[in-house]
Order: sequence, then C-alpha cells, then structure tokens
Amino acid sequence: MLTVLWSQMWANAIKLRARALGFIECGIASVEPFTSEEIERFRQWLHNHGHAGMRYMEETFDLRVDVRHLFPEARSVICVLDNYFYARSARLHPRGPKIARYAHGIDYHRVVTIRLKKLLRWMKQEIGEWVEGWHAVDSKPVWDRMWAWRAGLGWRAKSTMLIHPRWGTYHVIGLLFVNIPLVPDAPMRQDYCGRCHRCIDACPTGALQPYYLDARKCISYLTIEYRGDDLPEEPRWSDWLFGCDICQEVCPWNRFARPTSVAEYQPLPILQQMDWNDWLNLRRGTFRRHFRYSPLRRAGLKGVRRTLRHLVKHQNTYSYATAQTS
Ligand code: SF4
Ligand code: SF4
Repeated sequence: MLTVLWSQMWANAIKLRARALGFIECGIASVEPFTSEEIERFRQWLHNHGHAGMRYMEETFDLRVDVRHLFPEARSVICVLDNYFYARSARLHPRGPKIARYAHGIDYHRVVTIRLKKLLRWMKQEIGEWVEGWHAVDSKPVWDRMWAWRAGLGWRAKSTMLIHPRWGTYHVIGLLFVNIPLVPDAPMRQDYCGRCHRCIDACPTGALQPYYLDARKCISYLTIEYRGDDLPEEPRWSDWLFGCDICQEVCPWNRFARPTSVAEYQPLPILQQMDWNDWLNLRRGTFRRHFRYSPLRRAGLKGVRRTLRHLVKHQNTYSYATAQTS
C-alpha cells in the first residue's frame, strides 16, 4: 500500500515538473512487453517493406519490441509531448519551397533532450541519486508512438500519428525510461477518427491507408531519409523540400492547435528570408553556418540539392514558376 502511494505521489510530482519545463503533456507507462498482436502488426509492416530503406528498423526489431534489452533496469517510462506549433503569422518566405513545420526551428532532438535531462536531474535531487534514467527522442531503437499511446497521451490515428484530443498532432514525443515504479496512466482505447478519412484522401502520393503508412511513397521519407541519388518520378509533390505536413494540415483535430511557448521552435530567420533563388544558389558554407542546429542537417546539403533538382525538373510549383518570372 505504501509503495503504491509513493509511486502515485512521485508520478504526480513528475508530471507537474514536466509541465513546468514546458512540455504540454506528460503521461506514464509501465515497462512491460508489447502484446503479440502489436508485435505482429509491426513485423507485418516490415515484411511488406512499409519502412522502405530504413534498414535499421529491421536490424533493431528485437530492441524496439522489448526495451529491456537496452535498459534492463527500466520499470517505468515517462512520456512527454512537446508542442512545436508556432503562430500562423510567423511564416516562411511565401515564394520559397515548403518545409515541414517541425523543421522550421532548432532540431527537436536537442530541444527535448535538454529538458529531459533536467527532469532526470530534478528526480535525482528530489528522490535520490540512485534514480537512473535513459532518454530517447526519436533517435534510439524504441517504439515512441506506442509508448506515448500506452501512457495515455492520445490515440493511434488513421494517419498513423498520435493525436492528442486537445493538442492534435503538432508535437514531438520524448521518452525517459527510469528504474523506479510509477503508477501508470491508462492507454486511450477510443479512436476518435471516426468516419473521417481526410488525411488518406489528401495524401498526394497515396502513401496512406487507414492505420498504415507506406514510407516508399511518403514525401517525408523520400526528402529526409532516402539516400538514393535520384528521387522516384512522382510529379505530385507540390513544393515540399523537406518533409510534408499535408496529412496534418487537413486533420480536423489540428484546428485548435495553439502556439508553443518553446522559443526554439520559432522559424529560423534564414528560412523566412530564403526564396526559390536563394535555395537554388545555396552554398556549402551558408548551409553549414545557418543550419548547424536545424533538422535539415539530416538530409544534408546533398539531399536538399537532390530534392531541389526534383522539384525544378517537374516545375509544377506555383512558387517556383513565380520566382522564375519575377
Ligand atoms: S507526410 Fe505527406 S506524403 Fe507522407 S503520408 Fe502524409 S500526406 Fe502523404
Ligand atoms: S484526418 Fe481524419 S482520419 Fe486522418 S488522422 Fe485526422 S481525424 Fe483521423
């Protein structure tokens, strides 16, 4: 009984502390194996090559489905959501390519990790130095969305994203695995997508089916993770240079998205200034200087140039055409 009270008290205190650190939500899950049905669905997705060229997903399958291979002492996982939606008025250059909203500011891996480390430091001070933690922000072989779902932070939507009923989808997930037992939250079993299928209808490449993403067709994958020299012939890309937000933009649960309080997610000034011509003439030194802490580094200048070549080749963009005639 005393242990339960202790676990509940610290679970509440940790959630309060996480919110004080600027996270919009915090939930807790117990570290228990995933169900055979969940694992099978993941295996099937890999089998169907839904993960495209992301071989590391296959290679780390065992780790993803059981985090105790990585952190054997893990008892609980503290899951946080970080809102990256900034005010609609602060926009990128209107005559430049589109970039997924999460990549307009400083890299979220850095932004979230810094605050998860602060949370762990606080736990060590308040609970005891014996508390150990292991953080993961979309860069380690763990199943981020499943943990966040287990921690009650949203439902797994048809778009395959995690939707929080008050915050929508414009958030990133941070995880802190800890060696202490904390009272877990209940997963959100209700699916509030209902009969909606806007994301599936709006996806320009047909990458989405309900609850299934074929990364081989997804603009986000192709512009960020794909390492080939040329992009597949697919003229319906609109102006996306890095990532794609279409399935989020059409989602009705994002109507009420509220601006973040995290300054690092505001768009980099350089992105607000660069039009098509600036992008087409981007030099290595400028890229290094201005995008050192930006998610665009993931694609690198080589990847950015490759996508620019693709967009120019198809010349199906209003913005690019305008840049050429102005
Ligand atoms: S990110 Fe774009 S391409 Fe990928 S599934 Fe969503 S709408 Fe389709
Ligand atoms: S657009 Fe509709 S179907 Fe797609 S994730 Fe949002 S609510 Fe669900």
